Amino acid sequence: MESGTVETSTTAVNGSNESSDPPPAERIEVLNPANGQTVDSIEVDTPETIAATVARVRANQAEWEAMGIEGRYHWLGKLRDWILDNGEQIADTMQAETGKVRGDIFMDLGYVADLINFYGTKAERFIGDETVRPHSALVASKKLLIRYRPHPVVGVISPWNFPLAMGLGDSIPALQAGAAVVVKPSEFTPLSLIKVIKAWKEEIGAPDVFDCVHGTGEAGGALIDNVDYVQFTGSDRTGRKVMARAAETLTPVSLELGGKDPMIVLSDADVDRAANAAAWGGMVNSGQLCISVERVYVEEPVYDEFVAKLTKEVSGLRQGADGRKPEKDVGAMTSPNQSAVVEDHVNDALANGAKALTGGKRGDGPGDYFEPTVLVDVDHSMKVMRDETFGPVVGVMKVRDSEQALELANDSRYGLAASVFGEKARAERVARRVEAGSVNVNDVIINMAAMGVPMGGWKQSGIGYRHGEPGIKKYCRIESTVVTRFAGKREPSWYPYTKARRGLVNRISQAVNARDLKRRLGLRG
Ligand code: NAD
Repeated sequence: MESGTVETSTTAVNGSNESSDPPPAERIEVLNPANGQTVDSIEVDTPETIAATVARVRANQAEWEAMGIEGRYHWLGKLRDWILDNGEQIADTMQAETGKVRGDIFMDLGYVADLINFYGTKAERFIGDETVRPHSALVASKKLLIRYRPHPVVGVISPWNFPLAMGLGDSIPALQAGAAVVVKPSEFTPLSLIKVIKAWKEEIGAPDVFDCVHGTGEAGGALIDNVDYVQFTGSDRTGRKVMARAAETLTPVSLELGGKDPMIVLSDADVDRAANAAAWGGMVNSGQLCISVERVYVEEPVYDEFVAKLTKEVSGLRQGADGRKPEKDVGAMTSPNQSAVVEDHVNDALANGAKALTGGKRGDGPGDYFEPTVLVDVDHSMKVMRDETFGPVVGVMKVRDSEQALELANDSRYGLAASVFGEKARAERVARRVEAGSVNVNDVIINMAAMGVPMGGWKQSGIGYRHGEPGIKKYCRIESTVVTRFAGKREPSWYPYTKARRGLVNRISQAVNARDLKRRLGLRG
């Protein structure tokens, strides 16, 4: 079997079996993309088992919510400690299911620990009760409160590129907000998350408000049908289906979708830094990162120098599998479907006049690899500059000036993230005009670690945000509370409607709403 392929099998006894026992569940084999070998297999959930899991955590959610922000941080803090204490073992599992090199794993583990602390310490500020001053004399005597109450059960549907940063990462603010969470991880990479959730339940002994279910798109659909809020991370193609399915039950969604992130290199950039950033930003996690650098626009005066330095850096990268000791730079392609996309984009570019200065084809087996690739002589008629490649490939174009760079950078249906390299003030001015949810100046990908600022896609890169205040508020419903402090037996606006009472109401309304003295006194202007 091709490495990384998801193989589903039904091991049910055939139709001649008259027993009333339910047939054995369908299973999915999880394969190591670095060598094609089976790592483990998992049971596929049915719509019934998914509904039952959601119902079970739903039953415990009210108690979880009632624990308050500190009470929930207590348990999430224990999870952080468990992750920190068991980092090597989790990394072993993640390496086996993804084919990542060891050096790429820190992005998952460090991120989730940081995220737990971020929301644990900021949640009170972001979603604590707010008191609002009454805006008008009509409600001046009332106490006005905004409370952020969680959607009871959040369904998280996650991709294969960062099994914990996405599957667990998107669960953390939801749990901190007081929701129960059920995750459907990618069918390609469910094992790291299974390990964490097992620890949550068995080793940490945390409340039963966090679980996962398994399967392909069908399981994702069943989860959507049962939860109160959907956090989806994946391709824009699937994002559309998720939104349509959620529309059937009017379930709100947040969608973190694909990108085609541009980098702009201005003539006054530190070219060494820009080239090293493009190499790491384009190849990290084998380019399987939604905010990886996919296309680069370089101002003419520094183009040759940039391309030479980028090519040297990329061609020196060590590709392959390593173990606990980080000995390689670029790992495997986690999903075999993705290798086919990458190959198609590169071949399309090469067939239409592009040149590969390094790489350009699949790596030699065993395992599923694509060589780190730098393409030049590319243009926007080519897939590699238009569609999400999601592989270790960057296309580089020479541009006349920053205006042309911006025009090309913004010529995309995506708008997830971007980077601009150059003299700080000038680069910042250019960054303001890039159409993307996050722009890094003189750095790449770092916005993912800057949790104080929201991260979300413009255009077809998504709806909603993770990180910052919006990243936890989205999991909450606003409950406005209006408390009457002083009151008689009835209000002037209540029954009975008599002439005198209506007159009083009208006079009060006029006095409150008029902005000039004459009208306030009940006279015409
Ligand atoms: P995908 O869209 O194929 O799958 C994502 C998840 O959706 C998987 O768990 C899958 O089983 C599930 N799914 C598939 N069909 C479904 C359906 N009809 N209903 C419900 N769920 C369904 O994406 P992928 O290939 O796993 O991941 C790669 C994509 O994810 C890339 O486009 C990448 O840019 C994107 N991504 C985005 C971000 C971000 O923050 N914006 C982060 C990581 C990855």
